[in-house]
Amino acid sequence: MKIGIVGLGLIGGSIGLELSTVRNSPTHFSHRFQAIAPSEPWLNTQILGVSRRQQTCERAVALGAVDTASENLASLAEADIVLICTPIGLIQPTIEQLVPILQPNAIITDVGSVKQPIVESIDQLWPNFVGGHPMAGTAEQGIDAALLNLFVNRPYVITPSESTPTAATQAVTHLAQVLGANVIQCSAADHDQAVAWISHLPVMVSASLIAATQTEQQPSVMQLACQLASSGFRDTSRVGGGNPELGMMMAQYNRQAVLRSLSAYRQALDQITEQIEQENWPALAEKLTQTQSDRGKFNL
Ligand code: NAP
Repeated sequence: MKIGIVGLGLIGGSIGLELSTVRNSPTHFSHRFQAIAPSEPWLNTQILGVSRRQQTCERAVALGAVDTASENLASLAEADIVLICTPIGLIQPTIEQLVPILQPNAIITDVGSVKQPIVESIDQLWPNFVGGHPMAGTAEQGIDAALLNLFVNRPYVITPSESTPTAATQAVTHLAQVLGANVIQCSAADHDQAVAWISHLPVMVSASLIAATQTEQQPSVMQLACQLASSGFRDTSRVGGGNPELGMMMAQYNRQAVLRSLSAYRQALDQITEQIEQENWPALAEKLTQTQSDRGKFNL
């Protein structure tokens, strides 16, 4: 079994680290194989990396995230499964380059944070494609940000379409289970609206929050705010202080869903602003009581 990983950054590197750790200690991780057939081939897996820069390839091998790494996609010619872990805008061009290289029965999956535009275009290019999105990350990027256990007990969305072969869906499901993740299957469209609410809108809100603080005109107040910033600001500013390229591509590739969520957010903000302007404390208290209760609905 040969698994290819294209894009050895935070996500690609973390997938490689997890797969090689599981492969090297199968007894320790046997619980991850419970749902998988006894003839499970993961244990003999060879992990082949491809990344843009030679220094990243060398670092990924040194960290043990991949067995071999190259800047050349042709090194994946014999791969059984290929995970595309590049920035979102490079997923389709990368798969276009892989089409003449891979064996026809190879399975391709991706980890892009947006699914509908990717699934719609790749379904035409490669029938054995299953869209995927691990719901895990940090504010860091690059191979040195790769982490073991990043996906453990986290949701891993897969978005097969009506034409996706069952065997491909099963293989990607098993792969996510080997990573320790909990697989959730849904349509690409539902995924994109859901992540607009819980991932892409928070990035825009958090970025706007940081930007708003920078409008403070008094240097002494700004300096004091920087000194006093504590857990509340750390929690609310974290995703706005993350990878700018990723945030930009979330907005670009999930534009309609992000705009719909931003519009609802703007209305909610207007309502709270009005309640404070009008000193309508009972309405504000009711709102905050409701949000305190609603937060419990999320799997945090
Ligand atoms: P990242 O840390 O910046 O990693 C992306 C890697 O892709 C870079 O390290 C770069 O490697 C490599 N790359 C760039 N162009 C390439 C090319 N043409 N061919 C091969 N490799 C190339 O970003 P990331 O956070 O891992 O994000 C990668 C994907 O995961 C994105 O599609 C994103 O939507 C998705 N995702 C991210 C998160 C998150 O929270 N970060 C969570 C879930 C899913 P070099 O060092 O060689 O240039």
